[in-house]
Parts: sequence; C-alpha cells; structure tokens
Amino acid sequence: MAGIYIHIPFCKKLCFYCDFYHVITSEQNSVFVEALLKETELRKDYLEDETVSTIYIGGGTPSVFSIKELSDILNEINKFFSVEENCEITIELNPDDVNQNYMEGLKKLNINRISLGVQSWRDPDLKMLNRRHNSEQAAAALSEVFNAGFNNVTIDLIYGIPGMTVKEWSSNLDIAFSFDIKHLSAYHLTIEPGTVFGKMLEKGHFTEIDENESNAQFNTLIEKAESAGFIHYEISNFGKPGYFSKHNSNYWKQINYLGLGPSAHSFNGYSRQWNIRNLNGYIKAINSGKSFFEKEELDAKARFNEYIMTSLRTMWGIDLEYIETTFEKEGYDYVVNLSGKFKNYGLMKQEKNSLILTNQGKMISDNIISEFMMPSED
Ligand code: SF4
Repeated sequence: MAGIYIHIPFCKKLCFYCDFYHVITSEQNSVFVEALLKETELRKDYLEDETVSTIYIGGGTPSVFSIKELSDILNEINKFFSVEENCEITIELNPDDVNQNYMEGLKKLNINRISLGVQSWRDPDLKMLNRRHNSEQAAAALSEVFNAGFNNVTIDLIYGIPGMTVKEWSSNLDIAFSFDIKHLSAYHLTIEPGTVFGKMLEKGHFTEIDENESNAQFNTLIEKAESAGFIHYEISNFGKPGYFSKHNSNYWKQINYLGLGPSAHSFNGYSRQWNIRNLNGYIKAINSGKSFFEKEELDAKARFNEYIMTSLRTMWGIDLEYIETTFEKEGYDYVVNLSGKFKNYGLMKQEKNSLILTNQGKMISDNIISEFMMPSED
C-alpha cells in the first residue's frame, strides 16, 4: 500500500501567505505535463511492487489544468503503477475554477475526493489574503461539487487572520458545517519568511494576532468541529467517521509515497528525496536526463525524529510498542523519560501504550515536538 502525490505548480494569482512552490503563469502547461509524464515513467520502480491506494493532486492550483491534461497524468500513473480499484483520488480545487462541466469531467476521471480551498467565508479575509475568489463563489462552488455527486468533500479554512475575531471565526465554522462536508482542514495563519506577509512583517507593516486570541480560536475550532460530529484526528484535520484523509494519514503512519513534479517529496522508509523547487530547472533536468532531486538517507535518529514529528500531531500519538521494537530500549527510555514532565503539566496523556497530546498540548505542539527531537551526531 503506497501513495502518489502530484504537484501542479501553476497559480493565477499570488496569495500573500503562500509558501508552497508555485509559479504565476499559464504558458508552460504542456511542457510541464510532458516532463511530468516522463518523470512518472522514470520513477516507475520507486514504490517497488506496492499497490497505490491513494493519489493526491495538489499544488499550486491543479484546477488550472484541463480535464484532458489531468486525464493524461492519471493515465500515465495507471500505466506504470498498480493502482487499487477503490483508490482514494483527491484533487485540490480553487472555488472560481469550479463549474458543472469541469466537475462532470473530474467524475469521469474517477476522482472521488474533492478538496476545496475556501479559506474563509468572509470577503475582507479573502481580500486580505489576496485570494482570487469571494465567499459567494465559494458557496456556489461547494454546491456545484455536491450537485455533481461528490460525497467525500473537504474544505480548507484559515484562522488567526489579523482582524478576525473569535465570533467571526465561530460563524465561519457555522457556515462550513451547514454544508454536508465530511472533512475540514483548518490552519492557523503562519507568516513564513519570503512570503508577501513575511516581507511586510519584516518592515513592521504586519501585526500577527496575539497568543490568547490564537488559543481561543483554536479552542473554538475544536469545540465546534467536535459538536458537529467531526473527529479531531490531526492537529489541523477533522473528519467525520470513515472520512479521514487516507493519503495524509499514510504520511503520518510512515507509509511509502512517491512525489511527482517540482518540489514534491518522496519517502520509502529509509530515504527521503525532494525534487528541484524550480519549474524550468525541473523540466530541463528531466528532459536532459540529469538528476532532478536531492536525497537524504535516513539513519536511526532521523527516522526516530520523523516518526515523532508526524505521530505526535495525530490522535493516535506515539506508539510505545513501535518505539521499543524499532528504536530499541534506548529510544523507548528516551521517550518515556521525556514524556514525564509533559504529563505532569497536563500537556500529554498516556492511553494504553500510546502517548497523546492533550488539547492544551496541541496548542504548543511545535515546542513539544522539538523537545523530543534527538540531535544528530555530526
Ligand atoms: S492558490 Fe495555493 S499555491 Fe497558489 S498562491 Fe494561493 S496558496 Fe499558494
């Protein structure tokens, strides 16, 4: 069982918070698709004989691609990999790309999970983030998705936006839950260096919301999502029973995956590799037979850190039995000893053989995770 991620790097407009690899152009689609098809063939042995149980088309904005372009990509994957019959196939869509014809086309490609980038139901937030859609378009797009017969639907929302109050965030969530969505990914706005917001912050032209407000919005998110029947299965992800993202859950469970396209990451248990984060560089390298990725072999410490980083973010937490079998007594003692203080502070709890973050712990998950990281020897 393995996953494939495909990175479509094109966008029509720059969102001010965006740190994903993307280019604002629509002129290189066909040369890019050609390179992507070549990469698919070149990497046909990466997953060895594993069956592909999830495919995730992300970006960038995959919905800038025509049905024909998406069809060519999926056909190539089917040609070189053994894809499970009921494979979860997700595509990310921007609301203003959605229309009846497009959705019908996606259905014919056997895409069965839709991820719609709503981000907020408030126009002032969407303007501030420099999104290209408005809330009316988002609502119309969501209805169109359901009308086309898609049932497994997730949306993205962003909280912690300057100017957004807890009350406004709460009503954003009410609107989201008034639709029959099965999954929600909710991310706190983070300001990354190099983004438009990052540059504004450097110049003192951007003020982040304070910690109390952040925590209040996170608590509101958990309370409202849980009372709407969603399970909080990962820090930023909530799903109705049976509708967790299989693709992302596989990342968190250390299942192998292949990433295709510029900046895409791959993992096979022992090494991690990442493609060139530059569209022209990627196309040139693929077409000239040169190396198009960097690779890191993972030693035991790196694998330990990788496991902690992903597992601690989930409701399944750190599996102590797995730690003991995989990282032996040294790894087990290290985790158990370190967990003591977090348990005393009420930030972590032990359920049977698993160490799990409490809601309070989730608020400072990054700090707790970094304390668990084993320093490398060099
Ligand atoms: S649509 Fe997504 S990838 Fe493109 S600029 Fe906006 S956030 Fe970034």
